[in-house]
Amino acid sequence: MANKILLEVVTPDKLLLSKEVEAVVATGVDGEFGVLYGHVPFLATLDIGELRFRDGAHTDYAAIAGGFAEVTGSKVTVLAEAAELAREIDVDRAQRAREKAEQRLAKVKGEDMEYIRVEAALKRAMLRMRIVQRGQA
Ligand code: ATP
Repeated sequence: MANKILLEVVTPDKLLLSKEVEAVVATGVDGEFGVLYGHVPFLATLDIGELRFRDGAHTDYAAIAGGFAEVTGSKVTVLAEAAELAREIDVDRAQRAREKAEQRLAKVKGEDMEYIRVEAALKRAMLRMRIVQRGQA
C-alpha cells in the first residue's frame, strides 16, 4: 500500500479538509503540480484553480480561489483565499456570479484594477461550475 500524505486545506473561515490521501494535484501560478509521499519540500503560489486528491481509486475535487501551498515529504498544506469541495458548491450561485461578472466585464474595459477584479470573479465562477461537474463524473 502506498504511503499517505496528510492534505489540509485552510481558509480564513475554517479548516475545510484534513485527510490522508495518496496523491495531490494543485494548480500553481506556473501550472499544475503533483505531490506524492516523499516529495521534496517546496512552497507554491496557487492560482484560481482545481485541487484534486486521490485515495485508492477515488478522486475528489475542490475549487481553490488562489493562495499558497506548503509541501513537505508527508504533508500538503493549502492556505486558500476561499475553497469549496465539489459537493459543497452551489452551482446556481456560481452561474449567477458568472453572469454578473460577464456583464460587468463588458462595462469596465479600460478601468484596469476593476477589470482585473471582475476577471478574477469570472474565473472563480467558471472554476466552481467546472468542479461541480468534475465531482459528478
Ligand atoms: P459570489 O459573488 O457568489 O459571492 P465570489 O466569487 O465573489 O462569488 P468569494 O468571495 O470567492 O465569492 O467567496 C466568498 C465565500 O463564499 C467563500 O466562503 C466561498 O467559499 C463561498 N462561495 C462562493 N461561491 C460559492 C458557491 N458557488 N458555492 C458555495 N460556496 C461559495
